[in-house]
Amino acid sequence: MTAEGSRAATASSVSFTMHGIGVSGGIAIGHAHLFAGMSAEVDHYEITGLEVIREQRRYDRAVKEVRDELSELSDSVRHGPSAELAPFVNVHRLLLDDAAFSEAPRDIIREQHCNAEWALRAQLDELLAQFGDIQDPYLKEREDDVRQVAERILGALAGTQRRIAIKPVREDASILVARDLSPADVILFRQHPFAAFVTDLGGATSHTAIIARSMNIPAIVALHHSRSFIHEDELIIIDGTQGVVIVNPDRSVLAEYRLKQNQARLERDKLKRLKSAPAATLDGTPVQLYANIELPSDVESVKASGATGVGLFRSEFLFMNRRDLPDEDEQYEAYREVVEGLKGLPVTIRTLDLGADKTVEGQQDHDPVTNPALGLRAIRYCLAEPQVFNTQLRAILRASRHGKVLILIPMLTTWNELSQALAAVKQAKEQLRDEGVKFDDYVPVGGMIEVPAAAIALPMFIRKLDFLSIGTNDLIQYTLAIDRADDKVAHLYDPLHPAVLALIAGVIRTAQQHEKPVAVCGEMAGDVELTRMLLGFGLRHFSMHPAHLLGVKQRVLMTSLPDISPIVARILRADEPEKMQALIEKLNS
Ligand code: PEP
Ligand code: MG
Repeated sequence: MTAEGSRAATASSVSFTMHGIGVSGGIAIGHAHLFAGMSAEVDHYEITGLEVIREQRRYDRAVKEVRDELSELSDSVRHGPSAELAPFVNVHRLLLDDAAFSEAPRDIIREQHCNAEWALRAQLDELLAQFGDIQDPYLKEREDDVRQVAERILGALAGTQRRIAIKPVREDASILVARDLSPADVILFRQHPFAAFVTDLGGATSHTAIIARSMNIPAIVALHHSRSFIHEDELIIIDGTQGVVIVNPDRSVLAEYRLKQNQARLERDKLKRLKSAPAATLDGTPVQLYANIELPSDVESVKASGATGVGLFRSEFLFMNRRDLPDEDEQYEAYREVVEGLKGLPVTIRTLDLGADKTVEGQQDHDPVTNPALGLRAIRYCLAEPQVFNTQLRAILRASRHGKVLILIPMLTTWNELSQALAAVKQAKEQLRDEGVKFDDYVPVGGMIEVPAAAIALPMFIRKLDFLSIGTNDLIQYTLAIDRADDKVAHLYDPLHPAVLALIAGVIRTAQQHEKPVAVCGEMAGDVELTRMLLGFGLRHFSMHPAHLLGVKQRVLMTSLPDISPIVARILRADEPEKMQALIEKLNS
C-alpha cells in the first residue's frame, strides 16, 4: 500500500489516495464505516480458573501483535509522504505500553474470570469515564487515541477468535473498512447494505475476495493501514478494478467517478441481452457456462445470469455463522431449494470444504505453528468426522430425487481418500435404501483437482470418478506454495505460471482421453482474459460467479477455435513472462 497526498491526522477533509489489491471490480462511492470498533458488540462469557492463564496469554498475544503492527506502521510512515502521521502512531505505541492497557485487562480477566474482550471493554469504559469532565481540546483528543488503541487490540483478538457482531451504523451506501474479514463475516453482509469493502489484509483469491465478487460489490484488500488513515464517516471512492481508494475526493474527482459508475451500469445492461443466447464459439462448438453459489438464496442470481447449471455449490457456507451444525433435514431442505430452483438443470454440490480460511464455531486452529491450508481441510476433515460426512451425503442424496444432482469431493490427494469417500457415498445410499427413502441411484460423483498430486497422478483417480472439476484457486496455491489468504505473498499468485498452465492443460487432456467431463470452477473460469486460453486447452465447461457469466459468454461467442489454437500452443511453450503476456494479449486482441 502507498498513501499519497498528505494531511494532518486531525484535518479530515484533505484528499488522498491509497492503493491495494483490487479483488472485485467496479466503483462505489459512500461513507466509511470502520469495522470492529468498540461500538460493536462484545460478547461476555465466563471462563474457569484453569482457563485464566490461557486467556491472559491470548490477550498478551493480541497486545504484541498490535505493538508489531504499530512499529511497522511507524517505520513505513516516517520516511513517506505521510511523515507527519508518525507522532500520532507513536502516541498509540506509548499508550499500548502503559499499564492501563498492558496490565489492567489481565487483572480483570483474573479477578472476574471473563474473556479478554470483555476485560478490555471494562477497562476502556473506566478510562473513558476519566475523560468525561475534561474540557481541554488537546487532552480530549487523547480520548480518541485511547479508544483507537483499544479497538486495535480488539481487532487482534478477533483475529484469533472472532466474536463481534456486525452492525452497520448507517443505512445508505456505507463502505466497510476493516483490518481483516473472514468469509463468514462477508457472507453476513448479504443482509446489510454495504456498497463495498476494503481490508488491510487478504489475498486476491481468498474466500473473502471470492464472496465479494459473488456479491458483485467492489472490494480492495491488502491496504495495510486503511484503518489508521480513514476516519469513520469520511466520504470515499472505491475503484475495485484499479485497487484504488480515494479519501475525501474533491468535486471534480467525484464527478469523474460518478460518470464511470454510470458507464459501467450501461455496459452491464448491454450484456444482459446475451442472457438467453446459447454459449457457442464462432465455429459452432457448444460451451457450458455454470454458476458457483454459496447459499440457496443465490439461485435468483443464477437464473438472472442465464447459467445452464450450478457447477459448484460451496455447501460449507450453510455451516457458518452459527453455533450448531445443520442437521440432515435442514441440509436436505437447502439442497432441495437449489435443485428445484434450477428446474432440471444440473446442480453440483461440493461436500464440506471446511478448514484453512473457512472455519466454523469451535473449529478454528489456535496453534500459530500449524498451517491450516495444509491441515485437516475438505475431504480430510470429512473423513475424520464420518458422522458429519454421512449426514451431508444422506441430505444430498435425498435432494437428488428432485432434479439433477452431482456430488463433488474437494481436495482429493490420495487413493485412500477417494476410496473412502466413495465408500461413504455407497454406505449413505444403502442406509437410505434400507429405510425406503427415494434418491437418484445414478448420482455422478466427481473430484476436485486442486492439489498438484491429483493433477499429476490423475490416471490413478480418473477411472473411479464420473467427472472432474479443476479448482484453480487451490491448485495455484499449492503449486506455487503461496497462501491464497496472505497479502504478503499475494503478488506471487500467478495463474499464468508455466507449471500451473501445464497442470491445467494436462488435466483437461487426460479427461478428454478418458472421455470424462471436466470443468474449471476456480476464479480463472470467470476471468475473460483467460477464456480463450482455456477454450484452446479444450475446456468446454466453465463454472464461475454469476456476475461474470455474461462477460465470459460474450468472449466465447466472439472466439474461433481454429484461429486461437496455434497461439494457445505457443502459450504452453512460453518460458518467459514477457512472452507469455504478449501471447495472452495477442489471443485477446
Ligand atoms: C478452488 O480452489 O479453485 C475452488 C473452486 O474451491 P474454493 O475456492 O472454494 O477453495
Ligand atoms: Mg478449493
